[in-house]
Amino acid sequence: MISIIVPCFNEAEALPYFYEEICRILRGMDEYELIFVDDGSTDDTLPLIRGYAECNENVIYLSFSRNFGKEAAMYAGFCNVRGEYAAVIDADMQDPPGLLPEMLRIIKEEGYDSVAARRSSRAGEPPLRSFFARRFYKMINRISDADIVDGARDFRLMKRSMVDAIVEMGEYNRFSKGIFGWIGFRTYWLSYENVERVAGKTKWGFWKLFGYAVDGIINFSQAPLSIASWLGIGMTAASFVMLLFLVVRRLCFGDPVAGWASIVCVVIFMGGMQLSNIGIMGQYIAKMYMESKHRPHYIVSETNCDTVKRIK
Ligand code: UDP
Ligand code: MG
Repeated sequence: MISIIVPCFNEAEALPYFYEEICRILRGMDEYELIFVDDGSTDDTLPLIRGYAECNENVIYLSFSRNFGKEAAMYAGFCNVRGEYAAVIDADMQDPPGLLPEMLRIIKEEGYDSVAARRSSRAGEPPLRSFFARRFYKMINRISDADIVDGARDFRLMKRSMVDAIVEMGEYNRFSKGIFGWIGFRTYWLSYENVERVAGKTKWGFWKLFGYAVDGIINFSQAPLSIASWLGIGMTAASFVMLLFLVVRRLCFGDPVAGWASIVCVVIFMGGMQLSNIGIMGQYIAKMYMESKHRPHYIVSETNCDTVKRIK
């Protein structure tokens, strides 16, 4: 059996197109289950999904008590997978469902554990967003041990063993692209041309994406902490050199110390450095704080399946 996880947040406009397409594709495949995770939508997404579940016994849905975010929605899906294979796919048709049969073939015939989709281009994306995205992938690959391919999407089909590993990674601050990379397994990368969403609007503004990127770095790398310490050590060394210079100049040339402006500059500079480094530490502490609370990742308020884990 193959389980398809579909996180949906206010996707009422795109969902009918998606449902029609995915059903058309799945009809030709083995047994399947479609797991719709309604991430606290405020539009007609839930009634739509309820309707699908009534007409199609392969449809399972979980509806969250509020918006928990796409990461929580994917995690809920993974926790409730029953199939031998599982796939995550967006509801807006940006992840072409038509790739699924090819993905399944590659896993079955070529011995891979997962097949992940990557966009071969970023056409149609705002230039600034592309620029930062590229920087982000370069940086995170350099400073963490989760290797993440540029243009990688969350869209992938994987074997059960990989799903179990993902569920085992129960961290509260989730960054799936990093988790997929961190757990390893043999992954085949399937490229495809970027597709615009079929209807509705993206839920990821620039700043939300930026925050997500920062989360990714903090979750998978301690590099910012080391950078902060090395900067501190560098600054201390520099200040010793400056002190030495001033003492020698005073002794040899008897120069009175002139100008307070330079001193003020240095003081402000140091203050800024200290504050920003405390800020970096604070980010890590905040993550630890949230992890230590052991709060559930999601809370299901409605479902059509008795065996679903309602809180996890
Ligand atoms: N999504 C979600 N919860 C959220 C935001 C998004 O479940 O808080 C879902 C959304 O319904 C879609 C997928 O995640 O199926 C990707 O979202 P979107 O298309 O807005 O992101 P983009 O493709 O622009 O990165
Ligand atoms: Mg999208």
